[in-house]
Amino acid sequence: MAKPNVQQIRFLEDLKLFVIEVMSSFDIWSKQQLTSLSYVKLGVLRKNATQRHGVTRWKRGVKAPKHIHEVDVVDLHPRLLFEDWKPYAAWVLHHEFVHALGYFAHDSAFRTLEQLWPSKKSSKMGSKFTEMLRREKATWLWVCPKCKKEFPRQKQGNGRYMCKTCKCALDDVPMTASQ
Ligand SMILES: [Zn+2]
Ligand SMILES: [Zn+2]
Repeated sequence: MAKPNVQQIRFLEDLKLFVIEVMSSFDIWSKQQLTSLSYVKLGVLRKNATQRHGVTRWKRGVKAPKHIHEVDVVDLHPRLLFEDWKPYAAWVLHHEFVHALGYFAHDSAFRTLEQLWPSKKSSKMGSKFTEMLRREKATWLWVCPKCKKEFPRQKQGNGRYMCKTCKCALDDVPMTASQ
């Protein structure tokens, strides 16, 4: 949805080449499919998106997409486009490329193809990425007075939330720049 800047475009192009190269080693996708992936336009999500880390958007008016030529753009979260998150960015782009190749639902056929991605560790970075986005947006930390576990949130909890482990109400601590 947002417009990528020059660095983001460069990062996305590198990432695309890398993902296609890895996919070419699976012996599942034809040369033609891999070539059409290389023409898929990449963009970025709005930076305040937290739920989605990547999305495949279809061309306007396409109701039941069947073909990769009906892909409008694949958008990735802009915070993914840094070296530290590259393994996860590659995993997300691969996920979107499986959609682009005609697998729309997260069904078992989709999951089988998704799992061909060789780095299992990358998929597990997703929850860390979500946590990082949450922390960046948070203005309050809900802190357990007993075990000190922190829950970054946008609103105060006002004593309404409990630590599941310790069964005591969480304290509201304002976020500061240092956190
Ligand atoms: Zn998906
Ligand atoms: Zn606790």
